[in-house]
Amino acid sequence: MQRKHFSFIIILIISGFLVGCNSDSIFTKPATVSESSVQSQDKSKLNVAVSILPYADFVKMVGGDKVQVTVMIPPGASPDSYEPSTQQLKDLSRADMYVMVGQLPFEQAWSDRLLATNQDLLVINGAKGIKLIDDNPHIWLSPRLAKSQLENIYDGLVAVDINNKAYYSANLKEAIAMLAIMDGTIKSIFAGLNSDTFLVYHPAWGYLADDYDLVEMAIEEQGKEPGPAQMAKITTKAKNLGINTVFTSSQHSTRSAEAIAEELGAKVVTLDPLPSNYEDVINSAKLISEALK
Ligand SMILES: [Zn+2]
Repeated sequence: MQRKHFSFIIILIISGFLVGCNSDSIFTKPATVSESSVQSQDKSKLNVAVSILPYADFVKMVGGDKVQVTVMIPPGASPDSYEPSTQQLKDLSRADMYVMVGQLPFEQAWSDRLLATNQDLLVINGAKGIKLIDDNPHIWLSPRLAKSQLENIYDGLVAVDINNKAYYSANLKEAIAMLAIMDGTIKSIFAGLNSDTFLVYHPAWGYLADDYDLVEMAIEEQGKEPGPAQMAKITTKAKNLGINTVFTSSQHSTRSAEAIAEELGAKVVTLDPLPSNYEDVINSAKLISEALK
């Protein structure tokens, strides 16, 4: 009797946990909204899924109030090592369109299965038309490359919702104008610096560096913490360059970055490579420029 009671409690705990996981899925909904009202709410808006937070902002820029966006990689998780759950992939079948960066490890690992199980889902490759450097996927951090990514999203929205083409087109124009302003702002932030090389743990800022004639030096070695030889090499090079700041991100390990910073007597500063508000790239540019003055 005692034992039966005990297993019943365990079942309750487990089922409670499962419900918790489900409501935590990528299609984040207010907890108080019932499934049926979510369905009707969904019907008035296009349901667009994206891989990363900055793409949610891109989709909102173009889709405005016609879209509802859900993000595959939860805040704080790294797109370099993230694996979506089976539930997330199942949830994707409810989306009208999915915008992937096209180059993230999980996208490449899952895309075949995703496409096979969701044959009606329009999948947009954000990187379409962009020339990648060394297979580096972080194209969203360049405001100049953001333009083509917005255009790819626009093409997708028009393909699934031709009736609102004029609306999406006007939003796209406005977003591109905003990017041009951002570009000018960042250009002036990086004007007249004393040095051009900044040191990061995870190489997310290479495209931004290229745009503004800066050099990104990375500690991470092929997605992993560097070995002792690489650590020594970086430290020596950084010392010679007079590097005073080591940039880290909350999604990645900071162990070797902190060790190198200590060796250099440098500051450790966090940058966000997955901003939910795209204009935050300006703040990252400011932090990088502070290190190069
Ligand atoms: Zn990354």
